[in-house]
Amino acid sequence: MDDWSLNPNVRKLLQRVPLPISLPTPLRRGTGRSTAGELTGTRAVVTHLRDALDLAMAQAVQQAGAAVTVVDPAGDATLTGRIVDGGGQFVAGTADLPGGVLHAIAQGGATGDRRPVTLIHRVIRPHGVDLAVNEATDALLSVGHAAASLPPNSRLLLVLGPDLRGDSLGGLMTAATQGFMRSAFKELGKSGTTCHVIRAEDAQSAAALAAFLASPRAAFLTGLDLLARKSVAGDAADGPELDGKVVLVTGAARGIGASIAERLALEGSHVWINDIAQSQAAAADTVAQIRARGGHAEFVAADVGTLSGAQAIADAIGKSAGRLDGVIHNAGITRDRTLKKMSVAQWRQVLQVNFGAMHLVQTAVAPLLQPGSAMVLMSSVMGISGNFGQTNYSTSKSAVIELAKQWAVDGQARGLRANAIAPGFILTDMTAQMPVINREMAKQLTAMLQPGLPLDVAELACFLVGGQSRGVTGQVLRCDGGMAFGA
Ligand code: NAP
Repeated sequence: MDDWSLNPNVRKLLQRVPLPISLPTPLRRGTGRSTAGELTGTRAVVTHLRDALDLAMAQAVQQAGAAVTVVDPAGDATLTGRIVDGGGQFVAGTADLPGGVLHAIAQGGATGDRRPVTLIHRVIRPHGVDLAVNEATDALLSVGHAAASLPPNSRLLLVLGPDLRGDSLGGLMTAATQGFMRSAFKELGKSGTTCHVIRAEDAQSAAALAAFLASPRAAFLTGLDLLARKSVAGDAADGPELDGKVVLVTGAARGIGASIAERLALEGSHVWINDIAQSQAAAADTVAQIRARGGHAEFVAADVGTLSGAQAIADAIGKSAGRLDGVIHNAGITRDRTLKKMSVAQWRQVLQVNFGAMHLVQTAVAPLLQPGSAMVLMSSVMGISGNFGQTNYSTSKSAVIELAKQWAVDGQARGLRANAIAPGFILTDMTAQMPVINREMAKQLTAMLQPGLPLDVAELACFLVGGQSRGVTGQVLRCDGGMAFGA
């Protein structure tokens, strides 16, 4: 399933017939299982190399295969040497205002190299008190200029270190950077370039997060502002990524849930696919596809909105696997009506399946969870922004975001993590029911001018349930191509 605007034949035709239609950039997505060298064939530019956090970020992208260039004349010589020893290069010159070295490198230098770039900018601590005319805020403009010239499908990662925490000047610079990012991603999205803020409390967690955001697996994510904490699971998260892990995905007969199940199975997880009994045929199809590729999948028919359904899931997994390493609470429904026309049944049904079910399933499977297990709760951008005719849906999806935050706090002592995903406009059976005009409008409201694929949400869910996200918990991650509303 793909959007017409990305069909190669339609694009060829539109390039010959000059119509006032803005065509989106095809995104460079991951294919298949995630690999160690997924940044091979890309470049990375690092504007700051002075401490352990900078080094961890640079090494993370270098180890993933990116050709790293350091542009920090005041950088630590030993740290720079380590990147150069790893195959990177150092370019003298300041990361200065437009026209400077950084800008030239972003454009591909003398050779016009147009490989995608991950531009990693460590936001510096302002000198003095005047934030308006300051080296630190000027540097944002400088990297912004450079980012605007990057080849398609590049990344701009703005890193806030511990030096910006704990005082008012650091707080102001953090807020300024967040504001910059929220506008920058809207400008960069048309070329498939994404922009994120990483607030780094822990260098290793921040580096793992940067490697993911730089990868093709994060192609449809932009505008995220994430906190990278020390792992709550300790060493437990350092075990195998997803290989051999037992993961439950609710509502997985079709759509996003099926894609998550398929993607997890590709990584070697033993996937438990849940859906209602009426979806047995679709679920059997998903299970068969996974098994045909050598993966492991089981189907458990149950209505997650009922106590008996939730218990049936826990009993089936407990009896067969005896453990659970991840839960993707994905099942969801819409029953759109304006307030005037909404019945009590439509109101309650949506709240029960989208929100109440998560509590029922989580309670039932709790004894099976292990230290290092992670929960992913499916919310929606409508839970952030709201939408006409969807009060029941946005009520439920907003509560889901708070639930993820509460589970993150409650689970910390057991080494459990929980995060919410807020998808935007994703091509599934659910959105296929939308009128054409609404679908076209939804696309135009994204920075990337295109809908997402179930695979985009699946990549994010895999990341959040795997060990690479060990420092990410209690957060909401939008998967929306940079939607204009709801920030
Ligand atoms: P979908 O194609 O309709 O798939 C949802 C699946 O959940 C269906 O197989 C559905 O079965 C199943 N389900 C419904 N009620 C259930 C219950 N009580 N117990 C067990 N399974 C149940 O939807 P989707 O687009 O993939 O959406 C997946 C999740 O992402 C949902 O939570 C949705 O709210 C969220 N989301 C989607 C989008 C988007 O653009 N697609 C955007 C934001 C958020 P039946 O089909 O038989 O009812």
